[in-house]
Amino acid sequence: MKISGRTRILGIFGHPIGHTLSPAMHNAAIEALGLDMVYIPFSVRPSRLKDAVEAIRGLDILGINITIPHKEVVIDLLDKLSEEARAIGAVNTIINSNGMLIGLNTDGQGYLRSLKGDAGFNPKGRDIVLVGAGGAARGILTALAGEGPASIIIANRTTSKAESLVDEFKVKFPDIDLRACALDTSELKDPLKTAALLINTTSLGMEGKGRLELPLEEMPGGAVVSDIVYKPLKTDFLKKAQDLGLVVHDGLGMLVQQGAISFKIWTGLDAPVDIMRNVVERALEEE
Ligand code: NAP
Repeated sequence: MKISGRTRILGIFGHPIGHTLSPAMHNAAIEALGLDMVYIPFSVRPSRLKDAVEAIRGLDILGINITIPHKEVVIDLLDKLSEEARAIGAVNTIINSNGMLIGLNTDGQGYLRSLKGDAGFNPKGRDIVLVGAGGAARGILTALAGEGPASIIIANRTTSKAESLVDEFKVKFPDIDLRACALDTSELKDPLKTAALLINTTSLGMEGKGRLELPLEEMPGGAVVSDIVYKPLKTDFLKKAQDLGLVVHDGLGMLVQQGAISFKIWTGLDAPVDIMRNVVERALEEE
C-alpha cells in the first residue's frame, strides 16, 4: 500500500478497538479497487471522543466508522443525521462533506441486505420474532419494519426495554402487529410455532457470554433462524437450528454488508463484497 500526499483517510473510532475486523475488510476493498485511500483503527477513549470527532475536520478525514461505546453519544457531536440514524438513535458511519459531519447508520440495511441475499428471506407479510432490545435490535427493527412484515414480537431479558421499543415503533408503523414479551421459553413457545424468522440480536452466544436457549423445535419447517453474533460464526443456537433442518443465517453477512454500504457512502463505488467476506472469514478462522 502506497501512502502519498493525496491519500484519503478512512477509519474507525472505538474503545477497545484491538479486535476490530473493519480495517482488514476495508483495506482489502481499497486495494482491490486500486484506490488511493487507507483505513485506520483509532482507539478513542470516551473522554476523548469530542477531540477525535473534531480531528475528522482538522485532519480532513473522509469517513469514519463508529463502534462501541460511541454509537449513541457521537450523535450530539455531528452536524447532520440521516433519517435512519435518527430513527435508530445511533450512528455507525460518518462522512465528512467539506467539513460538515453527517452521521448515518448502515447496520439495519446491512442486515436486511444479507437476510435477503444470503438467506433468501423477504420480510413482507411475514411473522418475525426478534430477541434483544439493544442497539443492534433497534437498527434491525427499523430496517425490517420498513419492509412491511405482518407481525414482530420483541423478546428481551429486560421486558420493559422491549415494551418501550414496541410503544415507539407502533406510532411509526401502525400496520404492523408489534408485541413485547419476556425472554422466556414458555412465552415464546406459541409465537415460534408460526414464526417465519427468528433473530438473535443479543450478545448471548458470543464467546464467554452464555447460551441462548429457545424451543426451536416448535418452529415450522423452512423457517429462518438468524444470529448476528459472528464470534463464533456458528453459535450453539445456529447449530441447534441446523440440526433441526431449519434455514440458518449467521452474522458474517451483516458485518460485511454494513461495511459495504459505508464504503459506498464514502467512495461512491460498489464495494467488492466477496473479497471483503473472504478476508473477514479468514480473519475469524485465524482467531
Ligand atoms: P447492546 O446494545 O449492549 O444490547 C445487548 C442486548 O443483549 C440486550 O438486549 C441485552 O438485554 C441482551 N443481553 C446481554 N446479555 C444478556 C444475557 N446474559 N441474557 C439475556 N440477554 C442478554 O449490544 P448491541 O450493540 O445491540 O450488540 C448485540 C450483539 O450484536 C453483540 O454480540 C454484537 O457483537 C452483535 N452485533 C453484530 C453485528 C454484525 O455486523 N453481525 C453488528 C452489531 C452488533 P437487556 O436489555 O436485558 O440488557
